[in-house]
Amino acid sequence: MGYFVILEQKGGVVKRASLDVWNRVQQFARTSGEKSIYGLIIGGEGVERSVADCGGDGCILVVVEPELEHYMPSAYTDIIAGHIRDCGSDHVFIANTAMGKDLAPRIAMRLGAGHVSDCMVEVGKDKVPGASTTVYSGKVSALVKVLTRKAVYSLGPIADRPSVPSGDGVEVKMVESKVLQPSAWNPYLKEIVYLKGRKDITEADIVVAGGRGVGGAEHFALLESLADALGGTVGASRSAVDEGWRPHSDQIGQTGRSVAPKLYIACGISGAAQHLAGIVAAETIVAINRDSEAPIFKAADYGIVGDVQEVVPRLEHAVREIVRVK
Ligand SMILES: Cc1cc2nc3c(=O)[nH]c(=O)nc-3n(C[C@H](O)[C@H](O)[C@H](O)COP(=O)(O)OP(=O)(O)OC[C@H]3O[C@@H](n4cnc5c(N)ncnc54)[C@H](O)[C@@H]3O)c2cc1C
Repeated sequence: MGYFVILEQKGGVVKRASLDVWNRVQQFARTSGEKSIYGLIIGGEGVERSVADCGGDGCILVVVEPELEHYMPSAYTDIIAGHIRDCGSDHVFIANTAMGKDLAPRIAMRLGAGHVSDCMVEVGKDKVPGASTTVYSGKVSALVKVLTRKAVYSLGPIADRPSVPSGDGVEVKMVESKVLQPSAWNPYLKEIVYLKGRKDITEADIVVAGGRGVGGAEHFALLESLADALGGTVGASRSAVDEGWRPHSDQIGQTGRSVAPKLYIACGISGAAQHLAGIVAAETIVAINRDSEAPIFKAADYGIVGDVQEVVPRLEHAVREIVRVK
């Protein structure tokens, strides 16, 4: 048996999505009584400090390798698969981030394990995870039975985020990278950062997203201003991305990214199923749309029928007023 969590870091900080996976696996272990819990993180100098936030029980293996500060598919696969084998873990968990989507099938292939992508998992007394996932853009929920002994689960974000577990304390262990030929690793080229100073949409607590109804790239300034007032970040629908108003990294939805903010404000977004697939884990959804019949209102907790150009500045003004009075 045994649970193994692949943790992801950026700039020496464990990603929020990874922390959530670690906490969920701690809950699984509580329910099932599983004692073998391992985590693994790869990064540059000082990355061991980043796992100080991981509570609960078990052991986190840390590979420090300056060349591996950034994700490198083949090297990461070699290292992680090797350590999973050494730990004898059967059930491997990873966050369904961009890196997770790329890495999970590679690890599964290497281990001869089944892989369930973008899934939810529950664990019973038998310690074996039961996975479910959605198909047809979130319209149908499917239970997935893994036939192999080993399995890799890519966990999607959930609205009900797990709390930080208490426990005996996590042991942090520095380990060898175990890769023999660094020269064979594919080189890291460069990272392209579109929105300096703002949080990534998958990490942010507040996301202000715009669709075709925003009306043009220049009008996204209104959304950025509101996001600044709220301490949030800006996302987009596919239409806004297809129009070239926003980069693809901002796209939320089935062919974009899944987000799990506490507050999601959809501005001029109709609420197509493919968009909603990316916001199922959002806690509170506010929709601003001039069409009172727009499907987004069915998914929203609060709806404002009105023009984005009028409503957004007024909302920002109200937010700044509240912050000033406080
Ligand atoms: C295989 C596949 C994958 C897809 N993946 C994604 C995905 O990942 N993410 C995604 O978003 N979409 C995705 N789509 C596209 C999706 O089906 C929709 O076409 C898209 O989400 C629509 O974007 P939108 O809501 O911005 O635009 P529209 O559907 O054009 O809606 C614009 C909305 O803005 C409102 N509006 C217009 N002007 C204003 C105004 N001034 N003030 C207020 N409201 C206004 C309108 O009433 C309307 O509701 C996918 C489609 C397919 C087929």
